[in-house]
Amino acid sequence: MPEENSSDQPTKPEPEPSASAIFVAMMRQAAAKAVSKPGASGDGSAALQAAPEIEGEISLEPPPAAHDIRRVRRRLVLRRPHPASMAGGFFGAIFVVVVSTALVATLLMFFINPEFVNPAVVRGLQLDGEGLVANAADARPTPAGTPHWLRRIGIISGHRGKGATGGRDPGAICQDEYGNPFLTEADINFAVATRVVASLESMNYAVELLDEYDPRLHDYRADALVSLHANTCYDFGEYVSGFIVAISEARPDFGEDAFLRECIGENFGAQVPLPRSYNITDDMTQYHAWRKIHPLTPGTILEMGYMLADREVLTEDPDRLARAVIDGILCFIENVGKPRAQLQAEQGAASYAIPLLPTPTPIFRS
Ligand SMILES: [Zn+2]
Repeated sequence: MPEENSSDQPTKPEPEPSASAIFVAMMRQAAAKAVSKPGASGDGSAALQAAPEIEGEISLEPPPAAHDIRRVRRRLVLRRPHPASMAGGFFGAIFVVVVSTALVATLLMFFINPEFVNPAVVRGLQLDGEGLVANAADARPTPAGTPHWLRRIGIISGHRGKGATGGRDPGAICQDEYGNPFLTEADINFAVATRVVASLESMNYAVELLDEYDPRLHDYRADALVSLHANTCYDFGEYVSGFIVAISEARPDFGEDAFLRECIGENFGAQVPLPRSYNITDDMTQYHAWRKIHPLTPGTILEMGYMLADREVLTEDPDRLARAVIDGILCFIENVGKPRAQLQAEQGAASYAIPLLPTPTPIFRS
C-alpha cells in the first residue's frame, strides 16, 4: 500500500497531500527559520527531527511567504501563560474549594446525630414550646379582621334568567279570574335580591347576583350562598302562610349550613310579620344548586312567603324583606366559627339576631 510505505520511500511523491500535512509542514519550516535567525537552533532542530514520517513531504511544499511566518510567531507569543492569569486561577481554585466545602458540610448536617451537637446550640435552634403554650391563654385576636372584600357572598335571584330547559322561567304566577298573570315570583325575588346585593356591596363585601341556572354556580366557592324564592300562588283551599328556610339534605343539621339557615330564619322571623313554616319540600332540600356548588360553600334557600296569603308582605315593602335577609347574612358571616359561649355573650350586643347552635365548624376559606 502506498500510504504505509510513504515513510520508507520519501522520494515517491504523493499525488494529493492532505491539507493537514501541508499545514504541519508549513509550521515546521516557519519554526525552523524563526529559531535559526536568533541563533539558538538546538531546540528547533530537535523538534524538526522528532517526526520523520512527515519530513519527506516538506520537499513538496513551496517556501512559505513572509507574512505567514510573522503570523505564526505572533500566535506563539499569545499562547505564553500570563502571570496575572496564574494568580486568578489560584484564587479561583480557592473559591471553588470553599464553596464546595460549604455545600458538602450543609448536606452532611442532615446525617448528624442531634445528640452529637452541643446542647446549647440545639436549644438555640428549637422553638420555645413552653413559652408558646404559656402565652396561648393570653392570646387575643388581632384587631384588624378579615377585610370585607375578601368575604364572598352569592345571591341567587330565584327564577331569574333562562330556566332549566333554556326557556323563560317566571317561577310561580298569580293569575286573575281571566287567566292573565299579574304577579310573578321572579319579580318578587329580583326586587329583594337586587336590594340585598346593593346593600352588601355598600358594606364592601364581594357580592354576586346569580341567575337561577347561572353557569357560575358550577363549583361555586363563597363564604355564603343564599337563594331567594317566593312560594306558590296556588289556592290550597285553606290558609297557607309563612316563610321557609332549608339547606341541602346532604348537609348535616349542625355546622355552617345549619348556622346560615338559622341566621336567616331568626332574622327574617324577627323583622317580617310572617310565621316560620317547616313545610320543607324536596324542591328545597334537593335544590339543583346544591349539586353544583363547591361542597364547602355554605348554602341555604329561603321561601320568603306564599304569594296568595302573604302577598301584601311580599310586594308592599321589599326593603324590609331585604334588610331581614342582609341581617341574616351578616349574622352568619360575622359569627360563623365562634364557640357557643361567645355567641351567647354577643347576642344582646349585635344589631341582628344570633341563633344558638352547637358550635359551627370554622368556615372554609378558598
Ligand atoms: Zn321559586
